[in-house]
Amino acid sequence: MTCKFDYEAPADLLRDRIVLVTGAGDGIGRAAALAYARHGATVILLGRTIAKLEKVYDEIEAAGGPQPAIFPLNLEGATLKDYHDMAETLDKEFGRLDGILHNAGLLGRITPFEQYNPELWDQVMQININGPVWMTQALLPLLKSSADASVVFTSSSVGRKGRAYWGAYAVSKFATEGFMEVLADEVEHLGTIRVNTLNPGATRTKMRANAYPGEDPQTLRTPEEIMPTYLWLMGPDSKGCNGQRFDAQPPK
Ligand code: NDP
Repeated sequence: MTCKFDYEAPADLLRDRIVLVTGAGDGIGRAAALAYARHGATVILLGRTIAKLEKVYDEIEAAGGPQPAIFPLNLEGATLKDYHDMAETLDKEFGRLDGILHNAGLLGRITPFEQYNPELWDQVMQININGPVWMTQALLPLLKSSADASVVFTSSSVGRKGRAYWGAYAVSKFATEGFMEVLADEVEHLGTIRVNTLNPGATRTKMRANAYPGEDPQTLRTPEEIMPTYLWLMGPDSKGCNGQRFDAQPPK
């Protein structure tokens, strides 16, 4: 399956779909939440900074999109109970889930491994892989209640080829790729849930600016510009794609 860099999503692509976006208050997650809502989805905005989520909520409402929901959660301290409470709340409110974009992420530090702080390592692993794993486990019954559910994990080029100094971030993204393959294989027989990874590629966000402080952000695509693949992978046109790795930008 080739990547859909130029995909033109129909206006009603995600009509009547319930889609959860983590890290929805900023960067790529914010752009995805707005794009999904613009294409008809009821979006559940999950993140740790309520003021940012409220702003996205207001933007969706102002644009006339379906009323979204805000789910404040800090993935760093979230427990299994939090994820099960979340599943119960979403079950009561919506009864099913048609998509999850696991987008929230933490860069940690780009530093030689010899100097990597173990607490920061654990923090990055918690937010980038352990949280999404246990959240997905809790939400599986809701995904199974959907006729066509898409689970998208956010990867990175350093999750496909290791690079010096990228430490826990790279390892967490390799783990993300591995977990995607395991889960995709487990749900394949159902035929109603697909699980894939998406690498956004260099994108103009705060995380990118932290990782590459000397780079001119104007040389990078904006989160809005990489949305075609995000839409395609969340909508029905990617049905049948399971266990695959996608990129949101063509190689440079
Ligand atoms: P940003 O730092 O701009 O946004 C990250 C989002 O994740 C924010 O909304 C942030 O919330 C949220 N988040 C961070 N920690 C937590 C937490 N503990 N609990 C809940 N939410 C949290 O990053 P990007 O938009 O650039 O990155 C989005 C995804 O894309 C990440 O997974 C990243 O690894 C990946 N990626 C990005 C690339 C790029 O070039 N930008 C390249 C390759 C991959 P808050 O705003 O409240 O801090």
